[in-house]
Amino acid sequence: MTTSLIKKINRLKKEKNAIILAHYYQNKEVQDIADFIGDSLALSQKAEKNDADIILFAGVKFMAETAKILSPQKKVLLPDMEAGCSLADSCKAEDFKIFLEKNPGRTVISYVNTTAEIKALSDVTCTSSNALEIVNSFPKDQKLIFGPDRNLGNYVLEKTGRDILIWNGACHVHDDFSADSILQLKREYKGAKVLVHPECKQEIRELADIIGSTAALLNYTSESPASIFIVATEPGIIYQMEKKNPNKVFLPVKSNKSCSGNFECDCNECEYMKLITLEKIYNCLLNETPEIVMEESLIKEAYKPIKKMLDICENIKK
Ligand code: 13P
Ligand code: SF4
Repeated sequence: MTTSLIKKINRLKKEKNAIILAHYYQNKEVQDIADFIGDSLALSQKAEKNDADIILFAGVKFMAETAKILSPQKKVLLPDMEAGCSLADSCKAEDFKIFLEKNPGRTVISYVNTTAEIKALSDVTCTSSNALEIVNSFPKDQKLIFGPDRNLGNYVLEKTGRDILIWNGACHVHDDFSADSILQLKREYKGAKVLVHPECKQEIRELADIIGSTAALLNYTSESPASIFIVATEPGIIYQMEKKNPNKVFLPVKSNKSCSGNFECDCNECEYMKLITLEKIYNCLLNETPEIVMEESLIKEAYKPIKKMLDICENIKK
Protein backbone atom coordinates (compact mmCIF):
# COMPACT_ATOMS: atom_id res chain seq x y z
CA MET A 1 0.00 0.00 0.00
CA THR A 2 2.67 2.47 1.11
CA THR A 3 5.01 1.39 -1.70
CA SER A 4 2.36 1.93 -4.37
CA LEU A 5 1.46 5.32 -2.84
CA ILE A 6 5.11 6.36 -2.94
CA LYS A 7 5.35 5.27 -6.59
CA LYS A 8 2.21 7.24 -7.46
CA ILE A 9 3.49 10.36 -5.67
CA ASN A 10 6.83 10.11 -7.47
CA ARG A 11 5.07 9.74 -10.82
CA LEU A 12 2.91 12.82 -10.15
CA LYS A 13 5.96 14.82 -9.05
CA LYS A 14 7.62 14.09 -12.39
CA GLU A 15 4.52 14.71 -14.52
CA LYS A 16 3.77 18.03 -12.83
CA ASN A 17 7.33 19.22 -12.24
CA ALA A 18 6.61 19.44 -8.52
CA ILE A 19 8.95 19.32 -5.55
CA ILE A 20 8.21 18.35 -1.98
CA LEU A 21 9.81 20.45 0.75
CA ALA A 22 9.58 18.92 4.23
CA HIS A 23 10.40 20.10 7.73
CA TYR A 24 12.35 17.86 10.12
CA TYR A 25 9.28 17.41 12.35
CA GLN A 26 7.35 15.56 9.66
CA ASN A 27 6.39 11.89 9.86
CA LYS A 28 9.27 9.57 8.81
CA GLU A 29 7.65 8.37 5.58
CA VAL A 30 6.98 11.99 4.57
CA GLN A 31 10.62 12.93 5.23
CA ASP A 32 11.64 9.97 3.06
CA ILE A 33 9.62 11.13 0.06
CA ALA A 34 10.76 14.76 0.25
CA ASP A 35 13.11 16.32 -2.32
CA PHE A 36 14.49 18.59 0.37
CA ILE A 37 14.34 18.48 4.20
CA GLY A 38 15.43 21.42 6.31
CA ASP A 39 14.87 23.93 9.07
CA SER A 40 12.70 27.02 8.48
CA LEU A 41 15.56 29.07 7.04
CA ALA A 42 16.81 26.41 4.63
CA LEU A 43 13.25 25.69 3.51
CA SER A 44 12.66 29.39 2.75
CA GLN A 45 15.92 29.57 0.82
CA LYS A 46 14.96 26.48 -1.17
CA ALA A 47 11.44 27.85 -1.79
CA GLU A 48 12.99 31.01 -3.24
CA LYS A 49 15.40 29.17 -5.55
CA ASN A 50 14.10 26.13 -7.40
CA ASP A 51 12.93 25.24 -10.92
CA ALA A 52 9.67 23.52 -10.03
CA ASP A 53 6.22 24.67 -11.15
CA ILE A 54 4.58 23.35 -8.00
CA ILE A 55 5.88 23.36 -4.42
CA LEU A 56 4.15 20.90 -2.12
CA PHE A 57 4.93 21.90 1.42
CA ALA A 58 5.09 19.12 3.99
CA GLY A 59 5.06 21.34 7.03
CA VAL A 60 2.74 23.88 8.61
CA LYS A 61 0.81 26.78 7.13
CA PHE A 62 3.19 29.63 7.97
CA MET A 63 5.97 27.72 6.16
CA ALA A 64 3.83 27.19 3.04
CA GLU A 65 2.79 30.86 3.12
CA THR A 66 6.46 31.87 3.27
CA ALA A 67 7.12 29.70 0.21
CA LYS A 68 4.23 31.39 -1.64
CA ILE A 69 5.48 34.86 -0.65
CA LEU A 70 8.95 34.03 -1.96
CA SER A 71 7.71 32.30 -5.13
CA PRO A 72 4.34 33.89 -5.93
CA GLN A 73 4.42 32.70 -9.54
CA LYS A 74 4.44 29.06 -8.40
CA LYS A 75 1.53 26.98 -7.18
CA VAL A 76 2.12 26.22 -3.48
CA LEU A 77 0.19 23.30 -2.00
CA LEU A 78 -0.33 22.36 1.64
CA PRO A 79 -1.87 18.89 2.02
CA ASP A 80 -3.88 19.86 5.13
CA MET A 81 -4.91 23.45 5.80
CA GLU A 82 -5.47 22.56 9.47
CA ALA A 83 -1.68 22.26 9.84
CA GLY A 84 -1.34 25.45 11.85
CA CYS A 85 1.05 26.52 14.61
CA SER A 86 0.22 27.41 18.22
CA LEU A 87 3.03 29.98 18.23
CA ALA A 88 1.71 31.76 15.13
CA ASP A 89 -1.77 31.62 16.71
CA SER A 90 -0.44 33.34 19.84
CA CYS A 91 0.00 36.59 17.90
CA LYS A 92 -3.07 38.00 16.18
CA ALA A 93 -2.50 40.85 13.72
CA GLU A 94 -5.08 43.17 15.33
CA ASP A 95 -3.43 42.78 18.78
CA PHE A 96 0.09 43.09 17.39
CA LYS A 97 -0.88 46.30 15.58
CA ILE A 98 -2.02 47.86 18.88
CA PHE A 99 1.22 46.73 20.56
CA LEU A 100 3.25 48.42 17.82
CA GLU A 101 1.19 51.61 18.06
CA LYS A 102 1.81 51.74 21.83
CA ASN A 103 5.55 51.29 21.31
CA PRO A 104 6.54 53.44 18.32
CA GLY A 105 10.07 54.01 17.06
CA ARG A 106 11.25 50.44 17.52
CA THR A 107 12.50 48.14 14.77
CA VAL A 108 10.14 45.16 14.54
CA ILE A 109 11.71 41.71 14.23
CA SER A 110 9.31 38.82 13.83
CA TYR A 111 10.10 35.15 13.97
CA VAL A 112 8.94 33.37 10.79
CA ASN A 113 6.43 31.37 12.85
CA THR A 114 3.80 34.03 12.19
CA THR A 115 0.98 34.73 9.77
CA ALA A 116 1.71 36.75 6.63
CA GLU A 117 -0.20 39.66 8.23
CA ILE A 118 2.29 39.82 11.12
CA LYS A 119 5.18 39.65 8.68
CA ALA A 120 3.66 42.55 6.74
CA LEU A 121 3.75 44.60 9.98
CA SER A 122 7.44 43.80 10.57
CA ASP A 123 10.73 45.34 9.43
CA VAL A 124 12.51 42.01 9.19
CA THR A 125 11.85 38.36 9.94
CA CYS A 126 14.21 35.85 11.54
CA THR A 127 14.36 32.12 12.17
CA SER A 128 15.85 30.19 15.08
CA SER A 129 19.08 29.77 13.12
CA ASN A 130 19.70 33.48 12.49
CA ALA A 131 17.84 35.40 15.26
CA LEU A 132 21.09 36.55 16.93
CA GLU A 133 22.64 37.69 13.64
CA ILE A 134 19.49 39.55 12.60
CA VAL A 135 19.32 41.39 15.93
CA ASN A 136 23.04 42.19 15.81
CA SER A 137 22.71 43.55 12.27
CA PHE A 138 21.01 46.66 13.73
CA PRO A 139 22.95 49.46 15.47
CA LYS A 140 23.54 48.80 19.19
CA ASP A 141 21.37 51.70 20.33
CA GLN A 142 18.44 50.75 18.07
CA LYS A 143 15.40 49.81 20.20
CA LEU A 144 13.72 46.62 19.08
CA ILE A 145 10.49 44.67 19.28
CA PHE A 146 10.68 40.89 19.04
CA GLY A 147 7.69 38.63 18.50
CA PRO A 148 5.95 36.35 18.90
CA ASP A 149 8.06 33.82 20.86
CA ARG A 150 8.89 34.96 24.40
CA ASN A 151 11.40 32.16 24.94
CA LEU A 152 13.40 32.85 21.79
CA GLY A 153 13.02 36.58 22.52
CA ASN A 154 14.44 36.14 26.02
CA TYR A 155 17.27 33.98 24.68
CA VAL A 156 18.17 36.72 22.18
CA LEU A 157 17.94 39.34 24.93
CA GLU A 158 20.25 37.31 27.24
CA LYS A 159 22.79 36.84 24.45
CA THR A 160 22.80 40.38 23.05
CA GLY A 161 21.87 42.57 26.05
CA ARG A 162 19.81 44.70 23.65
CA ASP A 163 16.79 46.90 24.43
CA ILE A 164 14.07 44.50 23.26
CA LEU A 165 10.35 44.47 23.99
CA ILE A 166 9.11 40.91 23.68
CA TRP A 167 5.66 39.68 22.64
CA ASN A 168 4.25 37.15 25.10
CA GLY A 169 3.69 34.16 22.80
CA ALA A 170 4.93 30.57 22.89
CA CYS A 171 4.85 27.21 21.16
CA HIS A 172 2.86 24.63 23.14
CA VAL A 173 5.42 21.92 22.33
CA HIS A 174 8.63 23.74 23.32
CA ASP A 175 7.11 25.62 26.23
CA ASP A 176 6.15 22.37 27.93
CA PHE A 177 9.35 20.35 28.06
CA SER A 178 10.02 18.96 31.51
CA ALA A 179 13.29 19.89 33.25
CA ASP A 180 12.80 16.87 35.54
CA SER A 181 12.71 14.58 32.51
CA ILE A 182 16.07 16.00 31.33
CA LEU A 183 17.62 15.71 34.81
CA GLN A 184 16.45 12.13 35.13
CA LEU A 185 17.86 11.20 31.70
CA LYS A 186 21.17 12.89 32.60
CA ARG A 187 21.37 10.78 35.76
CA GLU A 188 20.58 7.60 33.84
CA TYR A 189 22.84 8.28 30.86
CA LYS A 190 26.11 9.75 32.14
CA GLY A 191 27.88 11.96 29.61
CA ALA A 192 24.79 12.45 27.44
CA LYS A 193 24.65 15.83 25.69
CA VAL A 194 21.52 17.97 25.96
CA LEU A 195 20.22 19.51 22.71
CA VAL A 196 17.76 22.40 23.13
CA HIS A 197 15.73 24.44 20.65
CA PRO A 198 15.64 28.16 21.59
CA GLU A 199 11.82 28.08 21.73
CA CYS A 200 12.26 26.25 25.08
CA LYS A 201 11.92 27.98 28.45
CA GLN A 202 14.96 29.36 30.30
CA GLU A 203 15.00 26.45 32.82
CA ILE A 204 15.43 24.06 29.88
CA ARG A 205 17.95 26.27 28.05
CA GLU A 206 20.06 26.34 31.23
CA LEU A 207 20.49 22.56 30.98
CA ALA A 208 21.67 22.70 27.35
CA ASP A 209 25.03 21.72 25.90
CA ILE A 210 23.90 23.33 22.66
CA ILE A 211 21.02 25.66 21.84
CA GLY A 212 20.09 25.92 18.17
CA SER A 213 17.69 25.50 15.29
CA THR A 214 16.70 22.02 14.20
CA ALA A 215 19.47 22.05 11.57
CA ALA A 216 22.08 23.21 14.11
CA LEU A 217 21.07 20.48 16.56
CA LEU A 218 21.23 17.87 13.80
CA ASN A 219 24.72 19.01 12.75
CA TYR A 220 25.88 18.93 16.36
CA THR A 221 24.93 15.23 16.69
CA SER A 222 27.26 14.41 13.79
CA GLU A 223 30.11 16.66 14.87
CA SER A 224 30.10 15.81 18.59
CA PRO A 225 32.15 12.83 19.76
CA ALA A 226 29.40 12.04 22.31
CA SER A 227 27.30 8.96 21.69
CA ILE A 228 24.12 9.75 23.65
CA PHE A 229 21.93 12.83 23.14
CA ILE A 230 18.91 14.12 25.06
CA VAL A 231 16.68 15.92 22.55
CA ALA A 232 14.58 18.89 23.73
CA THR A 233 12.77 19.67 20.51
CA GLU A 234 9.97 18.00 18.56
CA PRO A 235 10.98 14.32 18.28
CA GLY A 236 10.43 14.11 14.49
CA ILE A 237 14.01 15.32 14.06
CA ILE A 238 15.34 12.19 15.77
CA TYR A 239 14.69 10.27 12.53
CA GLN A 240 17.37 12.28 10.66
CA MET A 241 19.70 12.19 13.70
CA GLU A 242 19.51 8.38 13.72
CA LYS A 243 19.95 8.15 9.95
CA LYS A 244 23.09 10.28 10.05
CA ASN A 245 24.45 8.62 13.21
CA PRO A 246 23.30 4.98 13.27
CA ASN A 247 25.58 4.11 16.20
CA LYS A 248 24.43 6.92 18.49
CA VAL A 249 21.48 7.02 20.88
CA PHE A 250 18.82 9.76 20.94
CA LEU A 251 16.43 10.22 23.86
CA PRO A 252 13.31 12.40 23.54
CA VAL A 253 12.47 14.67 26.48
CA LYS A 254 9.02 14.31 28.02
CA SER A 255 6.41 17.00 28.24
CA ASN A 256 5.06 18.47 31.47
CA LYS A 257 1.62 18.21 29.93
CA SER A 258 0.69 16.15 26.91
CA CYS A 259 0.54 16.12 23.17
CA SER A 260 -2.76 16.88 21.47
CA GLY A 261 -4.51 17.31 24.83
CA ASN A 262 -4.17 13.55 25.43
CA PHE A 263 -3.26 13.49 29.09
CA GLU A 264 -2.09 9.89 29.07
CA CYS A 265 0.63 10.82 26.63
CA ASP A 266 3.77 12.85 27.39
CA CYS A 267 5.49 12.50 24.00
CA ASN A 268 5.58 16.18 23.05
CA GLU A 269 4.81 15.83 19.36
CA CYS A 270 3.59 18.76 17.26
CA GLU A 271 0.18 17.51 16.20
CA TYR A 272 0.03 20.11 13.42
CA MET A 273 3.18 18.79 11.76
CA LYS A 274 1.91 15.23 12.06
CA LEU A 275 -1.29 16.02 10.13
CA ILE A 276 0.60 15.59 6.86
CA THR A 277 0.43 12.00 5.60
CA LEU A 278 1.42 10.23 2.37
CA GLU A 279 -2.23 9.79 1.48
CA LYS A 280 -2.90 13.53 1.84
CA ILE A 281 0.23 14.33 -0.17
CA TYR A 282 -0.95 12.07 -2.98
CA ASN A 283 -4.45 13.57 -3.11
CA CYS A 284 -3.05 17.07 -2.86
CA LEU A 285 -0.67 16.55 -5.78
CA LEU A 286 -3.33 14.80 -7.86
CA ASN A 287 -6.02 17.47 -7.38
CA GLU A 288 -3.63 20.41 -6.85
CA THR A 289 -5.56 21.45 -3.79
CA PRO A 290 -5.54 22.70 -1.02
CA GLU A 291 -3.55 25.57 -2.46
CA ILE A 292 -2.11 28.59 -0.65
CA VAL A 293 -3.89 31.60 -2.09
CA MET A 294 -3.01 35.09 -0.85
CA GLU A 295 -3.84 38.66 -1.83
CA GLU A 296 -1.17 40.17 -4.05
CA SER A 297 -0.87 43.22 -1.79
CA LEU A 298 -0.27 41.01 1.27
CA ILE A 299 2.36 39.00 -0.62
CA LYS A 300 4.14 42.24 -1.55
CA GLU A 301 4.15 43.58 2.02
CA ALA A 302 5.15 40.28 3.64
CA TYR A 303 7.92 39.77 1.05
CA LYS A 304 9.94 42.80 2.19
CA PRO A 305 10.85 41.61 5.73
CA ILE A 306 11.54 38.05 4.54
CA LYS A 307 13.76 39.30 1.71
CA LYS A 308 15.57 41.57 4.15
CA MET A 309 16.32 38.56 6.38
CA LEU A 310 17.59 36.51 3.43
CA ASP A 311 19.80 39.42 2.27
CA ILE A 312 21.27 39.86 5.78
CA CYS A 313 22.05 36.12 5.85
CA GLU A 314 23.72 36.34 2.41
CA ASN A 315 25.87 39.28 3.53
CA ILE A 316 26.93 37.47 6.71
CA LYS A 317 28.09 34.48 4.60
CA LYS A 318 30.30 36.74 2.41
P1 13P B 1 13.47 25.50 12.98
O1 13P B 1 13.54 26.74 12.17
O2 13P B 1 14.56 25.41 13.99
O3 13P B 1 13.40 24.31 12.10
O4 13P B 1 12.14 25.56 13.85
C1 13P B 1 10.86 25.57 13.31
C2 13P B 1 9.83 25.32 14.33
O5 13P B 1 8.65 25.36 14.04
C3 13P B 1 10.24 25.03 15.66
O6 13P B 1 9.14 24.71 16.44
FE1 SF4 C 1 4.53 25.74 15.67
FE2 SF4 C 1 5.52 24.63 17.84
FE3 SF4 C 1 4.64 23.08 15.90
FE4 SF4 C 1 6.91 24.49 15.59
S1 SF4 C 1 6.54 22.81 17.03
S2 SF4 C 1 5.24 24.29 14.10
S3 SF4 C 1 6.41 26.34 16.74
S4 SF4 C 1 3.40 24.48 17.13
